[in-house]
Amino acid sequence: MNIKELNLNSRYKILVTGGAGFIGSNLCESLLENGNTVRCLDNFATGKRENIDPLLYNPKFSMLEGDIRNLSECRKACEGIDYVLHQAALGSVPRSIKDPITSNEVNVSGFLNMLVAARDAKVKRFVYAASSSTYGDSENMPKIEDIIGKPLSPYAITKYVNELYADIFSKTYGMETIGLRYFNVFGRKQDPNGAYAAVIPKFVMQLMQHESPVINGDGSFSRDFTYIDNVLEMNIRAMVSENPESVNTVYNVAYGKRTDLNELVGLLKDYLSKFDAEITNLNAVYGPNRQGDVPHSLASIEKAKKLLGYTPQFDLKKGLKEAVTWYWQNLK
Ligand code: NAD
Repeated sequence: MNIKELNLNSRYKILVTGGAGFIGSNLCESLLENGNTVRCLDNFATGKRENIDPLLYNPKFSMLEGDIRNLSECRKACEGIDYVLHQAALGSVPRSIKDPITSNEVNVSGFLNMLVAARDAKVKRFVYAASSSTYGDSENMPKIEDIIGKPLSPYAITKYVNELYADIFSKTYGMETIGLRYFNVFGRKQDPNGAYAAVIPKFVMQLMQHESPVINGDGSFSRDFTYIDNVLEMNIRAMVSENPESVNTVYNVAYGKRTDLNELVGLLKDYLSKFDAEITNLNAVYGPNRQGDVPHSLASIEKAKKLLGYTPQFDLKKGLKEAVTWYWQNLK
């Protein structure tokens, strides 16, 4: 089932926080394509104007420049809204190790502001970006929602605290919430630049520029890389689910397979060398492991399948082919 088919007999007013970022801007675009009215709240801390510029021509889209650390801006953003898809946060484990205070202000205090504003605006449901980092040092594999370990970074703490607050708001104020623990999302519009770039866009850019991709560690660490369209599907399913058992809980959002970094580089070289044959000759170079990185990450997606009917359409290879083509056409 594709996202269009999933949608939605009714049209809604949806607030996407962090809507100028990678996941948020893809969400805005997809919700608009399906005829919804979309408001984006973003302060452009890491998001980009070019991600939403094409949407500004759509009369059903509005941009509210504001900061989730400011409660009155959150209240303004929630006025008249049916559903909140809360994506705004400062991502990246290393960023949170360098500056835990700002990560906490945005990811925890900002999150709490958004919960309060959404509660008072009586939105139908608050769906939010949680994170696989909540599994922390748990060695359980695949990761099942109920079994988590101790957080390994300030970022992981902030994302776990989000889940605790959402749970309390469900229990105390009767708010409907759903947390989506994203596992290493990749795809079009993900930022390849800067110290905190994610691994797939970073490697793609390095290869396109004929540089060797730099792997932290020996390349044996593995991740459940998840293509953006699977994430869009989960957000929409979480938003519209009418199954009462499916709300006030958290879900893994992943494909359910893991791939190590050496394999990943091999696949990227394969796909990119279709555009530029010289890329075949590039090889990865290896540096030290990064603090706070877990060795392996693999999700069970059984809960999302059972309670939300999740049927991810993109495995790693299918998603990588699309992503690589997008980077080649847009950023080469
Ligand atoms: P992103 O950095 O591209 O998007 C985050 C957006 O939030 C940006 O547009 C940024 O400008 C905005 N933002 C940051 N601080 C803000 C503030 N104070 N007020 C208003 N807006 C603010 O990152 P992304 O990859 O799209 O991540 C979206 C969400 O998903 C985040 O909550 C992130 O923690 C979570 N997540 C992402 C991944 C992943 O693999 N990309 C994995 C797990 C969780």
